[in-house]
Amino acid sequence: MEQRPHRRPTPCTAQSRAEQLRTAQPQVTRTVHVVENFDNFAGNAETLPVLMYHYVYTEDDPPVKNDANYLLDTKLAAQLQYLVDNNYYYPSYAEVRAFAQGTHTLPARSVVLTFDDGQMGFLNYGIPLLEQYEVPATSFIICSQDSTPEKLRDYASPYVSFQSHSYNMHRDGSDVGRGGIIHAMTTEEIVDDLKQAQAILGTTEAFAYPYGDNNENAWAAMEEAGVLCAFTIENRRVEVGDPVEALPRVRIAGEYTQEGFEHLVEPNGSEQ
Ligand SMILES: [Zn+2]
Repeated sequence: MEQRPHRRPTPCTAQSRAEQLRTAQPQVTRTVHVVENFDNFAGNAETLPVLMYHYVYTEDDPPVKNDANYLLDTKLAAQLQYLVDNNYYYPSYAEVRAFAQGTHTLPARSVVLTFDDGQMGFLNYGIPLLEQYEVPATSFIICSQDSTPEKLRDYASPYVSFQSHSYNMHRDGSDVGRGGIIHAMTTEEIVDDLKQAQAILGTTEAFAYPYGDNNENAWAAMEEAGVLCAFTIENRRVEVGDPVEALPRVRIAGEYTQEGFEHLVEPNGSEQ
């Protein structure tokens, strides 16, 4: 993870900026999609892309060691512009859960944006773009890190929902899967971790498995802790019938072209 100095205003200013946005802008409308079944002409999504991003950088502030996890800010801006131009809908996690369970329909052009690890480049360069384009996203943050309470305070934004990337499970500790500690933990221990993260975040809507590692114990823990949607790094769209304890995501890599991005989010299913 990158460690960079904060470039945002003091906590007080950041909070009042979020306050300003809240009062200056109308509430994001939650459209109720009661879509009749007109022989598949109704414009429902058959699958849902939940995008998995990691880090954001600028040309003036490039990463020391660039890799596919780093996305240039101008590329992110073009992607957000495309979502706005094409009227994408951003479902809540309650809606994503109900979609996977087959009890809720979504518009054909629906997408969820997630950024893992709460990295400084995302906070400094990504969040201002989300605010500029008015596109909501989730920041999956590692709650045990010393910097987390400060980040939650300094980067509070109506367009960012901070959710759990675990309290302290983002570390090695097993020989299973990708080696994550979660494979060496009991359900109770995982629930305990989830609750510690909840205490810091004040929410439990979504969870992203560190390294994508998950198992039956983890699934039981998600249920017990009331997590609505838990995400892996399996690279595909969410389909109806997928377990809400292990939903896949579509990876967005730094080298993808704009056309490649548009293909990844294009409606998959019937469209009006
Ligand atoms: Zn991570």
